[in-house]
Amino acid sequence: MINLPPSADPIYDLILRGGEVVLDDQVTSADIAIRDGQIVGIAPVIAESIRDEIDVSGLHVLPGVVDIHVHFNDPGRADWEGWETGSLAASAGGTTTVVDMPLNAHPPTLDGASFDAKVGAAAASRVDFALWGGLTPLNLHSLGELAARGVVGLKAFMSNSGIDDFPRADDATLREGMNRAAELELPVAVHAEDEAMTARLSAAARQEGRISFADYAASRPPEVELEAIARALDIARETGCALHVVHVSTAAGLAMIATARAQGLDVTSETCPHYLALSAADADQLGALAKCAPPLREEPERLALLHAVASGQVQIIASDHSPCPPGMKQGDDFFAIWGGIAGCQSLFHATLGAWSKIAPPDIPALMQMLTANPAQRLRLAGKGRIAPGFDADLTLVNLARRFTLDPADVRGRHRASPFVGRSFPGPVEQVLLRGQPIMRDGLPIGPARGRLIRPAA
Ligand code: ZN
Repeated sequence: MINLPPSADPIYDLILRGGEVVLDDQVTSADIAIRDGQIVGIAPVIAESIRDEIDVSGLHVLPGVVDIHVHFNDPGRADWEGWETGSLAASAGGTTTVVDMPLNAHPPTLDGASFDAKVGAAAASRVDFALWGGLTPLNLHSLGELAARGVVGLKAFMSNSGIDDFPRADDATLREGMNRAAELELPVAVHAEDEAMTARLSAAARQEGRISFADYAASRPPEVELEAIARALDIARETGCALHVVHVSTAAGLAMIATARAQGLDVTSETCPHYLALSAADADQLGALAKCAPPLREEPERLALLHAVASGQVQIIASDHSPCPPGMKQGDDFFAIWGGIAGCQSLFHATLGAWSKIAPPDIPALMQMLTANPAQRLRLAGKGRIAPGFDADLTLVNLARRFTLDPADVRGRHRASPFVGRSFPGPVEQVLLRGQPIMRDGLPIGPARGRLIRPAA
């Protein structure tokens, strides 16, 4: 009897050869070796040769995007989006991990049972996923239960959420919830718009029959956001709770957060590609598609926000993907139209495209905001970096080419994206999730094998 030598078992499962690999702070030509779904080697040349190798020369190898703000609406409102279609759209844009918000699914994720129901629906996910829990006046007693289940954080609305089953957190609720979250060592994410100010302005506009985009936007001016951010920062200071401010739409809002960070407060900011790529002028053309809250801003504000991103004043960029059935996204009354932009497929491209228009983008810095920073903020171990020991979640893009987003290539449940018809750099050629291809040239590969990720201890 002859014992086979150990070399019969190849030391790697896959090698990517000769790509432009995007590391934390540089881009370098390198080979990447993968085993058991993880990155195990990065070197100018990996000498061993194995059967499964991919020549990726000419392509950039990015860490898969970690989109920490999506609404996939399933269970309960799968006709708005769904885990299969939503995750397909995400992966088509180079995203390999999504973190789903607690609202717009029904039931909303407010306790252990609703967490379990969402994990059940997410079995259809083609990308890895984690879940936010909700922080509302209805579920202050359930925050510990959500933490035990494995939510990455708790999300609260400081203004009306737009959906009846997810009431807003008044200041007392927010204070109590943040005290509790601090004990549970979970960050609280806030939708920061002041309810009193926006309720007063929108009631006045509607009473006078002023219902255009401009009227709607005027009911949520920058001051509405700044007032709420200031209050959230105060409550975070008071409670010692880690704070994440979602979809900041103004440079002044980012600056307030940057100042608080400099003073040592544990707070992060997030903005979204639609605030970087689109302005109020686009809203006139896009109509109902462009409605979101906070609203798209005037062009000077968009540029200021973009410069803040380019100069490193933002920690996280996420999509706030929030689709709905087409019937809810039409009409002339901007107060009645559903507020939400379906953009998870365009997170990377719309951000890259917007940045490219003001300066050559710093690709490692951009990817920090799209991958490493969000993964670190929500303690998603093994996600968000190209480094040994990390999951081989890799997106291969061709930055020398451009593409135009065709409606037929929009992969969500509905084809309603404000980015349709626009041209972007860097088409995605292939996406790997834990070392296995899930997407090639816009088409899905293999079955859904997304996994739930709980925050690391
Ligand atoms: Zn959202």
